Parts: sequence; structure tokens; C-alpha cells
Amino acid sequence: MEQFKCPLCQSLNTKLYLTTQTSVASDGQHVDMPINAYWCNDCQTLSKSHLGCEASSHVIDSIYNRYTLHSVGTSQETKVLFNVHAGGITKSKYNYLKLKENIDIKSTGKLLDIGCHYGSFLQNFHDGFPFWHLYGVDVSDRFKSKVESISENTHFTTSPISKLAENFDIIVVTHVLEHIADLPELLASLYNKLASNGVLYLQTNNLESNYFLPIIYEQYYNFTPNGLTNLLAGYGFEVMHLDTTTLPKEMTLICKKAEPKKFKPKQCEHALEENIRLLKKIDFQLKQYANSSMPLYILGTTYVARWLAANYGLNIVGYLDEDTSSLNQLIEGVAVMPPAQANKDIPVILPFPIEQAKQISQKLEHNFGLTSLVPPFSQELL
Ligand SMILES: [Zn+2]
Repeated sequence: MEQFKCPLCQSLNTKLYLTTQTSVASDGQHVDMPINAYWCNDCQTLSKSHLGCEASSHVIDSIYNRYTLHSVGTSQETKVLFNVHAGGITKSKYNYLKLKENIDIKSTGKLLDIGCHYGSFLQNFHDGFPFWHLYGVDVSDRFKSKVESISENTHFTTSPISKLAENFDIIVVTHVLEHIADLPELLASLYNKLASNGVLYLQTNNLESNYFLPIIYEQYYNFTPNGLTNLLAGYGFEVMHLDTTTLPKEMTLICKKAEPKKFKPKQCEHALEENIRLLKKIDFQLKQYANSSMPLYILGTTYVARWLAANYGLNIVGYLDEDTSSLNQLIEGVAVMPPAQANKDIPVILPFPIEQAKQISQKLEHNFGLTSLVPPFSQELL
């Protein structure tokens, strides 16, 4: 097999992380396209082999169109639940507070939010700093009037950021990097558009704490904390603050400009070697369950749950969910039901990181008498 060339650093020092026949979109919908995800030992980023392939960009366009359509009626943001705040706050509010907590924000300045959607972050920032000039960029102009209604100093554009006339004191890029085919171009533009003492606020998923992340088709790249820090250094950004714990499975980075540094080749990170081994064991185990048509439940209706069921052709007899809003739904003809109604003789697949799965397993046994399968989902481990 020909060695995969890393699209970010052109290295051939890459390793297959995951290969699948089918994949999934972030909203959990089945995508009938294969994924080959490769880890680069040099720049320490995961890339997909469908990057730059024309057939795949059509599929990805149709996924994005669906999101835009669906997000119109329900501009409701996911609440982030914290241990200390029982009610939770939105992701936008969290990001605003995080920025305010970690940098000294002057009373006026220019802020750019890339992938601003309907402007919820910009609104939060405006509420705290009303004299700033705010700029939102997104691929669709669907929310232009909503964003520009925030204040007379709020502007919206669908232009590439390299075309913007201004330089910015703060640039916010949350959950965008993984979707951009030409990531080197974006990183170079971010460097050019950030004022010399400006701040770059980044947020993305953390591959280290979410080993299933690469099954999402529309994400070209996935990152680890070390890998992203290393990649950013190559484009002239120094990470001042890194948080991998407050938001589970995500990471938040606050960066300033620095002299660009060359990629530092390192060995494949241990955490990912473990992920690769675990994914192989899961693959082996789930093929056995599929072959024997063993009845199984799966906990939750997340993209991982849906992908495991569809990709392996598992005999899923119910999706267990305590979230009442998803009850009475059918997923590929299979019911979503509360754990209390589950048959105790049928084991439950827990599609979560191992430690989290172990905790959930204890709860399911204690509260409902159910037997769970923790990754790699082998029954011998019960
Ligand atoms: Zn690389």
C-alpha cells in the first residue's frame, strides 16, 4: 500500500488510525462513504484521505446544507453543563467568559468571529464590551441580518478572511479548523489578520479524549493538544492557555503571535497508540456480535451510537435514552426507550470513553439492573 502523505506537512511518516466502510455526519445521520484516517507522526495531526476529493466535497456540501436548513427554526444552542452551575450556560457564553477571564480586554478594539453562525458569541461579547467593532464571517449569509442587528458596529461577510481590509485584536475560531480543506491557507490568513499584540481564541474537539472522533465525515482533520500546539507554532502562534478539561472531549486554546517555528518531529503519542489498539479490538468484537446477530441495546442516540449500529450491522433492539425529548423516536426503525423499560437479559453497549463508560455502567446496573459492555465491548470483561 502506498504511504499516505500528510496534507499539512507533506511527511510520509504517517500511520493508519482508522478505516471504515461507512461514516456519519455530526448530527448522527448515516453517510454511505468510507473513511481512511491517518495520523502524522511529524506534525501530529490526523487527516482523512478524502480531503480534496471531488465526490466527497459534494457529500459534505449536502451535509452542510442540511445543517443550515435545520438550524433555522431552532437557533437554540447546546447548553454546557458544569458541575458548579446546575443550570448550565451556552457554549457562546462560556467562550466569552473564558476569553474575559484569561486576557485583558480593552474598552475598544476589533474582533473577528470566524464561523459566527447566527452571532451568539458576538452578542455575548457586545453585551460585555459595547464599544468594540465586531465582524462575523460564515459560509452562508442566511444569518447576515440577525448578526448585523447586534449593533451598528457589527458587520457580517461571507468573503474569505484574506480579503478583509482590517486587522483584528481578537480572532475567535471555534469548531472550524477541522472543516477547512486548505488549513495551511487559513492559518496563514489568521496570522496576517491578527494585530501584532492580538489574541487568537481557538476551540476544537480533542482526539485524545474521543477516539471515535474520526468517523465524522465532514471533518477533514482532528487534533490533539500537543499536535495542535505544534502545528500552531509552525504558523507563528504561541499557546498561552490550554484547557482540555472544562469541556469534556474538547480543547480551548488562547494564543498570541510569535516567531514561526519549524515542526518538531516526535514519536506517535502514546494516547493515540492506545486509541488505535482499542479501535482494532472494538472492530473485532463488533464483527462477532454482527455475525451472531446477538440482540443488543446501545446507550444514547449520539453519532457514535448510530454509526456503530449502522456500520457493523448490529442487531440493535433499542436505543436507551433517559432524555425524554428523544423518546418515541425511531432510529432506522429501532425504538428509543427509557432504560427502565429494557430487558435485563440483553446487554447494553456504552459508546463512550472507557472511564466514562465504567461510571455509566455502574449506574445502569445499580438503577436498572442492566448489564453493560464497556469499550472494547467484550463480554469477557464483564
Ligand atoms: Zn504532518
